[in-house]
Amino acid sequence: MAKNWELVPVADWGFFTLPRPMVIAGPCSAETEEQVMTTAAGLAREGIHVFRAGIWKPRTHPGSFEGVGSEGLRWMKRVQKELGMKVGTEVASAKHVYECLKYGLDYLWIGARTTANPFLMQELADALQGTDIPILVKNPVNTDIDLWIGALERLYGAGIRKLGVIHRGFSSLEKTAYRNAPGWQIAIELRSRYPELPFFADPSHMGGSRDFLPEISQRAMDLGLEGLMIESHCDPSCALSDAKQQLTPDALGRLLASLVIREKDSDSVDYRENIDQLRAQIDILDENLLFTLKSRMEISRKIGLFKKEHNIAILQTARWDELLGEMVSKGQGYGLTEGFVKDVFNAIHEASVQVQNEILSQD
Ligand code: PEP
Ligand code: MN
Repeated sequence: MAKNWELVPVADWGFFTLPRPMVIAGPCSAETEEQVMTTAAGLAREGIHVFRAGIWKPRTHPGSFEGVGSEGLRWMKRVQKELGMKVGTEVASAKHVYECLKYGLDYLWIGARTTANPFLMQELADALQGTDIPILVKNPVNTDIDLWIGALERLYGAGIRKLGVIHRGFSSLEKTAYRNAPGWQIAIELRSRYPELPFFADPSHMGGSRDFLPEISQRAMDLGLEGLMIESHCDPSCALSDAKQQLTPDALGRLLASLVIREKDSDSVDYRENIDQLRAQIDILDENLLFTLKSRMEISRKIGLFKKEHNIAILQTARWDELLGEMVSKGQGYGLTEGFVKDVFNAIHEASVQVQNEILSQD
């Protein structure tokens, strides 16, 4: 288990200059040699020295741009040699791993769709056995922390000791403003179980739009995560994949400069209990509460319309008393007092009744 894991600390990988955030940046996809070199040079000018670019792209629909393939590895090699940057890409099969090792890439990452697949994870772990290349594992597309941990265990089992994780959010049924629901609580859970794993956030895939990058990046820093992986393209509007979420290197430089980094002493006992991190966790729960309240209100409205259509009375006191009783006893199971549960649910119920009354009074 986690406590027995002996990992090479990220500070010893020779990749990042501290302080936080450690930044990995580059285009969603390598498209042309010129695009790769121009973007990488721009990033180097911003003081970013760890480059990313997708060479094989997992696209939802066939016929979309699926990456340039091995040819792009030569361009990555140029970035490494000419600009002195560390270079890495996403691997999803043993063949990808062998190609990347042949070209001497510095690190690899595992994409969200691959982490979710134990067969592929085992194939990758087997292909990586005996190497010491750093591997970053993105969260699986679905909110299953054990799939994420299982993927890490397979790599650890294959002898990988330079391991890290990237949190990029989750697919969800509910439509949210972000491309992928943050599900920060899962990241927090993984972090508390495996505090030694270097932790990156991927605001680009989480947000899906340039507009959300500052708030997500700041939140990642407030949660005490070590790094950011952000997509950057020399000409985002022309990108062949993920055009809406990429930033030019100088816009990325400005974003990074705007982040407020509340540094903590990582050796102090209360490092993980830092008040800023706890507050950030409360903010996340409050946002989840608001979202739940909004969803509940939408359903209330639908019930109101149904009642109106079928001439049913809005206030059904007996049903509410029964439900409230059940909530109180469930709440007590969670250590919440009767008074608190009643106050909260009566307020919610009152707001619902009010909405339904408004519906009834409309023609
Ligand atoms: C990517 O990093 O370009 C990518 C495909 O990400 P994810 O696996 O998070 O969807
Ligand atoms: Mn992308």
